[in-house]
Amino acid sequence: MKIETIAVHAGNHPDEASKAVIQPIVLSTTFERAADGSYPGGHIYSRSSNPNRTMLENVLAKLEGGADAAAFSSGNAAGMAVFQSLPPGTHIIAPDDMYHGLRNQLKNLFAGILTFDFIDVNDSEVLQAHIKKETGLIWIETPSNPLLKVTDIKMVVAMAKKTGIKVACDNTFATPVCQQPLALGADLVMHSSTKYFGGHSDLMGGALITKEKSEWWQKIRQVQEMGGAIPSPMDCYMLVRSMKTLPYRMRGHIHNAQLLVDFLKKHPKVESVMYPGLPSHPQHEIAKRQMISFGGMLSFCVKGDESEAKRVINGLKLFTQATSLGGVESLIEHRASVEGPDTKTPFNLLRVSAGLEHIDDLVADLTQAL
Ligand SMILES: *Cc1c(COP(=O)(O)O)cnc(C)c1O
Repeated sequence: MKIETIAVHAGNHPDEASKAVIQPIVLSTTFERAADGSYPGGHIYSRSSNPNRTMLENVLAKLEGGADAAAFSSGNAAGMAVFQSLPPGTHIIAPDDMYHGLRNQLKNLFAGILTFDFIDVNDSEVLQAHIKKETGLIWIETPSNPLLKVTDIKMVVAMAKKTGIKVACDNTFATPVCQQPLALGADLVMHSSTKYFGGHSDLMGGALITKEKSEWWQKIRQVQEMGGAIPSPMDCYMLVRSMKTLPYRMRGHIHNAQLLVDFLKKHPKVESVMYPGLPSHPQHEIAKRQMISFGGMLSFCVKGDESEAKRVINGLKLFTQATSLGGVESLIEHRASVEGPDTKTPFNLLRVSAGLEHIDDLVADLTQAL
């Protein structure tokens, strides 16, 4: 079935007891055992599993084309479960513009336990030069945040496979509507469900989706269950509800992003625009090969310095100046000041999460601010 149908049906079947068409929210933390000590409902205790979380994990697995999925209380908790699942001493290769929250996690929480190199993973020679016998994982994030750099997933997988290295892909910016890393050979997909999956800027969540129920996956499941960084039944319910409209919301985000790119590209006060769908994007050919469509995120550099970028952002009335992305409302952010002193993000760069407002209103707001 196509992704729109999967999104609507994978997380839903009428409740067996009540025949309610929409699954009820099960708040119970514990589940009754039968006389013989078994668990006829299939659940024991809600840290291990809960009907709403099971339903969410089903949708997640089906949308990414995986064998199984695990839901977490945030994207960072999902990322952390991956790092915690690796044997001490494992070497990780990650992008030099990795999402700063996960980069900081590795540097601050895993130093001394794991080793890592932050490199340009899309340069196959650089990548080859950093692979060593302890390397257990190559982490990629494509398109990247906030430079929208694209990594060739098939190329990375081919290099990793030579020595049995696992490949995990942060697919938050693309979503399975725009890109399916498991189909391109990745072993694991990670999401911040806080973004497009939730889609309304009102819940935190994270997800991991696996290609195979491998030994590594069992370990990740252990981290989820024993660590307990799980989403509440209410958050799972809200996410299942949101996932049903993901493919249609993405159409709107993509449509508006492309029209904003067209507008900004021609604007005399704009120095450059970063969007994988632009023929001028340095990895456009890779993006065309591996992406189904180019997503709802874009960045642009204004002509001038940081103060000029801030003048533009402060002049906007409809765009909200805030971090995060993927909600129905358009957001804009001066990324360099969020990422801290070691950022590689240009100081005149603004990152845009195209929302679902009418494009004419978004363009009018940018016109007056620029
Ligand atoms: C937001 C984000 C994360 C972290 O997710 P949280 O839900 O904020 O913990 C990871 N990767 C990317 C690309 C993100 O945008």
